[in-house]
Amino acid sequence: MRWTKSRLTELRHRLGEAYPDARCALDHRDPFQLVVATILSAQCTDARVNLTTPALFARYPDARALSQAQLPELESLIHSTGFFRNKAKNLVGLGQALMARHGGQVPCEAGALAALPGVGQKTANVVLANAFDIPALAVDTHIFRVARRLGLSEATTPEKVEADLCRLFPESTWIELHHQLIWHGRRTCDARKPACGACPVAELCPTGSGRIADPHTGQPVTPAPDTASTPTLRPKAEGPQRIVSLVPSVTELLAQWGLVQRMAGRTRYCVEPRWIRNAVPAFGGTKDPDIAGILAQRPDLVILEKDENTLAAAQAFEKAKVPVPVLVLEIRSVAEAREALVILGRRLNAEDAARQHIAAIDAVMEKPRSSKRRSQRPRTLILVWKDPWIAAGEDTYLADLARSAGFRPIGGQGYPRLEDADLEALAPDVILLPTDPFRFNARHQKALTQRFPEAMVKVLEGKALTWMLSRTAEGLVRLRQERATILAL
Ligand code: SF4
Repeated sequence: MRWTKSRLTELRHRLGEAYPDARCALDHRDPFQLVVATILSAQCTDARVNLTTPALFARYPDARALSQAQLPELESLIHSTGFFRNKAKNLVGLGQALMARHGGQVPCEAGALAALPGVGQKTANVVLANAFDIPALAVDTHIFRVARRLGLSEATTPEKVEADLCRLFPESTWIELHHQLIWHGRRTCDARKPACGACPVAELCPTGSGRIADPHTGQPVTPAPDTASTPTLRPKAEGPQRIVSLVPSVTELLAQWGLVQRMAGRTRYCVEPRWIRNAVPAFGGTKDPDIAGILAQRPDLVILEKDENTLAAAQAFEKAKVPVPVLVLEIRSVAEAREALVILGRRLNAEDAARQHIAAIDAVMEKPRSSKRRSQRPRTLILVWKDPWIAAGEDTYLADLARSAGFRPIGGQGYPRLEDADLEALAPDVILLPTDPFRFNARHQKALTQRFPEAMVKVLEGKALTWMLSRTAEGLVRLRQERATILAL
């Protein structure tokens, strides 16, 4: 089937919905750090590069330092990224070329970038897009595979695939599309076992629907089972059997606990795991649920959360002609998240699952700190919205999660609106930008870094931080990793 304009739009829409947080996975603060990290990422995972670069940039903070690096020392710092001898030579050459030709700055012109040692067309495109916001669509191994499976290109070289993609999609979408296709390749369209059963673009894909053989392997695809849909825990079947969850993270939790077969409804924002959209009907949003539609499902329990949902919704269920039991959770700290898990476990007859979940959180909680280490807690402002700026105040779940991971949240109580002057007066050491609920991205990071050069500004995967219960342990791990990286710089 031909890729018409409307099908391409639909593809972008679906990718956007499935990977709203897609962004550059290489940690960097400026174009110099990004070009170095991208060179290191050849034949190496981004996670490994991110573990390597803090010490590397502490030792070689700019082109001048890198140009004077001694190879043995540089090689030992980047050893774990593989091909370290070649990469070290390229990095020294990069530093020298930047000093000789560009005054120590990374150029923002494709030809000049691609002429630097260790920088090919792909790296140049990555730097243009992520460091300078200049539209470019670098084709890596994931995009190459995904584009061919989707039938967006039949070309056999990354350069030709790039040309095909650039012809098909408007320039304004290239940067976003680049990240979304990479995430799709990493998370769903695996090289060996694509999860076509859980794929958000399956209906649009000639490979997944069997119309063509997999261009990557030459064989018809044998989709991997959707592992996310395989319940890992099977609680007893007693307890409520027609549960409606109006809380996205609780819905995800119920899926993790293998309780989806006992669900009668969710909201349209309950979209994780992705397959839940086909498994459980949606009735309105979190603030405006379709009460009549939910009541028609004859639920035997409706689950709400104080910040996510409204009091009016809870009362509507309790005062209905046939009253429906409601469970209203209130979660403003990690301790309250633990309590909520206990309550849910009891109420849903899923105590074993709850216990395991709590154990996972406890395993990653910070140990009590000595007074010396307390002083290392960076003063941290967590922004959750822009225009106007809205912060997660010190008494919110998000702030407590950060506190539990070793940060010192600042910014007032509740969700205060902040003027630019307030941000300046707070003078944070760290500004965290979760990608949920507002889609903060590298552009916002760059703008804030320029404005607050003293502060470390970080974009973080949002759902890990804001989806309490189902992702509390993951959020703690991510924040602790960030804190370790920040303190190492
Ligand atoms: S349907 Fe399968 S092959 Fe096609 S994009 Fe999705 S995961 Fe990849």
